[in-house]
Parts: sequence; structure tokens; C-alpha cells
Amino acid sequence: MASVSVTLEKIVSLCKRRGFVYPSSEIYSGLNGVYDFGPLGALLKQNIKNAWLEQMMSFKEEVVFVDGAILGAPEVWKASGHVDNFSDPLVDCLSCKKRFRADEFKLEDGCPNCGAKTWTDVRQFKLMFQTQLGAVADENSIAYLRPETAQAIFVNFKNVISSYRVKVPFGIAQIGKAFRNEITPKQFLFRMREFEQMEMEFFCKGEEADKFFELWVARRVEFFKSIGLNSEKIRTRAHATDELAHYAKGCFDVEYNFPFGWKELEGIANRTNFDLSQHSKFAGKELAVFDEETKTSYVPHVVECSVGVDRLFLTLLFDSYYEDEVEGEPRIVLRLHPKMAPITAAILPLTNKLREQSEKVFFDLKKLGFRIQYDTSGSIGKRYRRQDEVGTPICFTFDFESLEDGCVTARNRDTLQQERVAIDQLPAYLNNLLGK
Ligand code: ATP
Repeated sequence: MASVSVTLEKIVSLCKRRGFVYPSSEIYSGLNGVYDFGPLGALLKQNIKNAWLEQMMSFKEEVVFVDGAILGAPEVWKASGHVDNFSDPLVDCLSCKKRFRADEFKLEDGCPNCGAKTWTDVRQFKLMFQTQLGAVADENSIAYLRPETAQAIFVNFKNVISSYRVKVPFGIAQIGKAFRNEITPKQFLFRMREFEQMEMEFFCKGEEADKFFELWVARRVEFFKSIGLNSEKIRTRAHATDELAHYAKGCFDVEYNFPFGWKELEGIANRTNFDLSQHSKFAGKELAVFDEETKTSYVPHVVECSVGVDRLFLTLLFDSYYEDEVEGEPRIVLRLHPKMAPITAAILPLTNKLREQSEKVFFDLKKLGFRIQYDTSGSIGKRYRRQDEVGTPICFTFDFESLEDGCVTARNRDTLQQERVAIDQLPAYLNNLLGK
């Protein structure tokens, strides 16, 4: 019987046990809100990023890809509003001394930790990490670690237009690290202090912004379905007016039903022309484009799609985690979409005597760029379980018959069905599985 009794604890334990995610600096007791990705985690992350970029570049409107710096000049973050506005309200319980974000619960209900109702004043806590460039630490050497990747896109808007010959409407996409000194990092990869974002800023005429906003919301929901997320656990939610960020005219969150409730997975915002106008004003540079039809200049409006790689990583694990029974034995299985699975297939020789011939199959597939694992240790059943637990969609068993008929037995992770496949057909078989 399949069950979906997934909890955060089970995911954290699986991630550690099987090399998806480790607490950062763990041998020195860890660093709060910071994580390292192990061999399988790094591959899963890469698959997420590839799928995102693939979707971004698949539409008739052009979307180009850039890679901006993490360190930014203070002026960028003054113009963007982050220096003044990017903060969370912080409060401490006077009784147990625990610290909280004051907007996450009602203070009059009492402390979530000890129940007391006495608080310090609410202070605004700045979320940006500040650092110094060069040897002299003074006001002029301040730089910030970016709290979002988007600003590198806005400040390079003119560079991209003039060097790459793109015309509005078009998008600029970026994947990269972002840093926020979150007051209470929690729920594992859900709220981290160092994380990765995939952001796309779509530039268009102001009168077309609503149309593109709607279009991108639909496209992004489609994306989540295309990488295997259960559509019943995804919904969109429009922000109420008092919830909108200082720059936004409209905002939709794509939410996922996590074990700890419906929460934001991606934010899609109609940012108006706030960002380009601000940078134009602060930098004293013209950031308008010329409209050939009307012979006038205008500052494009922006529709932004912003999702965290790590948050999506966690979502995929929650969504694909099942516990069931195979031939009377309990198993944990990640029913990841084959495109997302860190390992696409495993080669399992029935006995060590078949090492040489089965290893050749393994090396040949590896050489073609497939992500393949080779496993000889333990019973075949045990080896299946190991692969199921990390989401490998297919296991190929190499047995004595393989020497005669040039076939292996392909066993499907989800249906458990087995079929003989010719070894020379394995590349086509795997490409088909990956939708190539
Ligand atoms: P929240 O209100 O939860 O603090 P936010 O609205 O500030 O989040 P955005 O600035 O819209 O978040 O960030 C865009 C996306 O980046 C989010 O939808 C999320 O997927 C991801 N993200 C934001 N902050 C974090 C974080 N601390 N850890 C991991 N991912 C994050």
C-alpha cells in the first residue's frame, strides 16, 4: 500500500543518509540556515536548473541568460529600495529570550515557545549581508551580498539590449546565489540564509504588462506540473493590496501544500517600471527604449518570475516521497520525474562473475553522458531498494542470459514491471525515458 506519510524529519534524514544535503560546516557543529549539497543533491539541483532554463528559453518571445556578480555596489541597493526597505520586524520574548519575526503570529496570543505575553519593542532588522571591499574598512568600502539576483538584470538592461540585439518584449533570466540574514531560518531548505534563485525579468510595454503577467503565471504553473509536481498540491494566490511589495502593482504566489501548510514556492510580480526608473534616476543614465511605431521613448515594464532552487528541491522531495511495500518488504521510494532524478538508471550485475561484461555496458552509457550508477553489493532486492530510495527510475539487471541474448532486464521503479531490453537499444530507451 502506498502512503504519503511524509514529514520534514523523514526528508532531512533521507537527505543526510543518502548524500543529498548536509548541514554546512557540520564537523564544527554546523552553521544555522546554511547547507551543503552532496553528490546526489548537487545533481538534483542541476536538473532543476536545466529544466527551468529549458522552459524559459522555449517560448516564442526571446529570453536570454546572464550571470551577474554576487557583490554589488551600495548604490544598486539604495536605488532598488533594499537599503531602506528590506527588513523584517523582529521581537524578543522577555520571558524565555527567544527571538521571532513579529509578522508571523499575533503577539497578543503569546510566545510560541513559552506562552508569555511580554515582549521587547518591535525593531526592524536589516536582512542584507554587508561586507567590505579592500583593505580600508570605512563607509566607502561597503558592498552588499545580493539578497536577490534580479538587480543584476536591471543594471545590465542597456548592456544586453545594445550588445545582443534583442527587442522588447523579451526576458533576461538568471540563476545564482542570494543571501538574506533571515531572523529565523527554518524548515530545512525552505528558509535559508544562503540560497539560490532562478529569476526571469520580462520587459514589455506598460500596456502589455497585464497580458504578459497572466501568461507567465500560467506558464510557470505548467512548468511545475511538467517536472512532476502533483497538480492538486499547487495553487496560485493573488496578493492582497496591503501585502504587495513597495514596487509591485500585482503579485501572484504559486503555493505548494507542504506538510507545514500552503506556502510560497514562487513569486510572480508585475513590477511596473519601478526598477528601471529608479536605476535611471540614481545612476543618471537613460534606461528608456525607442518605440519605432510611435516614435517615442518609454521605460519598459517588468513581469518577474522568481523561484528558489533549494525551495523547489525541498518541494520535489516532499512531493515524490512514498513509503510502500514490495513483496512484503517496506520500502522508501522517491517517485521523481525521470528528468529530475539524480541518477537515471543503475546497472546491477547478478553476480560478481559478470563484472567485466556488465561494466562495459555501464562505461558505454556513461560515455554517452547518461547519469548511471553501477552497484554490485548485496542482493538484487537490496540494490533495488537503494535505488528506489534516491529516485532512480530504472534498474538494468545483467544476468547470465545477457551473455547469450545481449539483453538486460529493465525494472521500473513505479510499476515494478520488468522487461527485456537489448543492450544496444539502451541509449534510445533512456532518451525516451528522459523525453529526448
Ligand atoms: P518570504 O515572504 O517567505 O520571506 P519573499 O516573498 O521575501 O519570501 P521573494 O523575495 O519573493 O521571497 O523570493 C523569491 C523566491 O525565492 C521565493 O518564492 C522562494 O522560493 C525563494 N526564497 C526567498 N527567500 C528564501 C530563503 N530564505 N530560503 C530559500 N528560498 C528563499
